[in-house]
Amino acid sequence: MARHIVVIGGGPAAVFAAIEARKKDPSADVTLVTEETCEPYEKPPLSKAVLLGKAQPGDAPIAGPGGLAAHGVTAKLGTRCTAIDRAAHQILTTGGALPYDALVIATGSLMRELPLLPSGMPRVHYLRTEAHALAIKAGLTSCKHLVVIGAGLIGLEAAASAAELGVEVTVIETAPRIMARACDEKTGALILAEHQHHGVDFDLNVSVTEVTAQLDGSIALETSDGELYVADLVLVGAGVKANDALAAASGLDVQDGIFVDAQCRTSDPAIFAAGDVTRFTTPQGAVRLENWRHAQEHGAVAGRNAAGASDSYKAVPSYWSEQYGLYIQGIGWPDPSAQTVRRPLPEKSALVLETRDGVVTYALGINAQRDLAAVRRLIERKIPVDADDLADPAKPFNAMLKAKA
Ligand SMILES: Cc1cc2nc3c(=O)[nH]c(=O)nc-3n(C[C@H](O)[C@H](O)[C@H](O)COP(=O)(O)OP(=O)(O)OC[C@H]3O[C@@H](n4cnc5c(N)ncnc54)[C@H](O)[C@@H]3O)c2cc1C
Repeated sequence: MARHIVVIGGGPAAVFAAIEARKKDPSADVTLVTEETCEPYEKPPLSKAVLLGKAQPGDAPIAGPGGLAAHGVTAKLGTRCTAIDRAAHQILTTGGALPYDALVIATGSLMRELPLLPSGMPRVHYLRTEAHALAIKAGLTSCKHLVVIGAGLIGLEAAASAAELGVEVTVIETAPRIMARACDEKTGALILAEHQHHGVDFDLNVSVTEVTAQLDGSIALETSDGELYVADLVLVGAGVKANDALAAASGLDVQDGIFVDAQCRTSDPAIFAAGDVTRFTTPQGAVRLENWRHAQEHGAVAGRNAAGASDSYKAVPSYWSEQYGLYIQGIGWPDPSAQTVRRPLPEKSALVLETRDGVVTYALGINAQRDLAAVRRLIERKIPVDADDLADPAKPFNAMLKAKA
């Protein structure tokens, strides 16, 4: 009898889990259940090419041009999982019950909502799905002033897209600097300068204290430093939280994210979980990662293991962001106590490397893709490096790989 493998979710973790499960066990009956009504699509373009009108969300199906069907996966679109019945080995959905031999939960993240600016309030937007992106894009066509709350990756990408469309943009951020979670002060300042060069205004180290809907439909926002902004549109990018309520309700071990072991197994051996929704142990402690590459690779491991493999996930986290002509990448585990080396690069590019015990542990680059491809391998293979060589643009990273691999 074919094994039933069920995957809940419609993001990269779910799609790669389903595809890899089928590859590992071609006789398995693999079903992916997603509440979204379309073939799973990539989220990264939503804040970039989609807002700019250069792409449609459906242009980039995660499973490739033939969709999930081309991989032998049954997709149940527009179907929400409402409960996991662990005793009966089945999930309950808006389309009925589905039995499973192995289950993968990949329900991703939910946006953190600000009580003063709830989703559903007219002209207030959050950005997570294609429907959100298309609504923001439509709103931007008649928008004169966009206020973005939050200078993290999503907020800044949306700010850059709006500025490129000619919209006046103000970014309000509670931290004293932008991208404080993702990058060092100097690199952050370079990105800030690029935004300012495109006319984006910043109000840092403040929070929104009062919100008033105006008679003409615009929104007045008062900040803790006494500024008043009137916006035609507000976009909130205040971070995300794990969408782990289903797992918690079914009694799985959930600690701000579904807790999984190195093989993506939850506290129930028949249930795996992957991607943004999980928390797992690393040498850096228990972490949640919220980026595309992690979701894809974690999902693949969960899917193979649900189909009978016993692969381990070895995370070297990485993310990218695109703002104007800046291609920003972070690879590895940032650590404020690590030694920092800055390699001089031409204008509008940067490369900062962190080392610990003679190996590179983190790298942050702007327009340094070629260097970072080699640095990723230095990090993954823990190759010993010389700090002076790292700082010397005449010493190629590839040579460090060849010399010491
Ligand atoms: C606008 C935007 C831009 C981004 N840009 C980048 C970038 O440039 N670089 C980068 O590294 N990362 C980026 N990310 C982050 C990256 O997209 C996420 O980390 C990744 O999508 C997480 O994948 P996931 O599969 O774990 O979860 P998600 O992609 O969140 O997918 C979860 C899916 O599960 C579905 N679901 C949830 N609950 C249920 C249920 N009960 N029943 C059925 N279906 C359910 C949801 O509808 C959703 O389709 C971006 C994210 C966004 C929103």
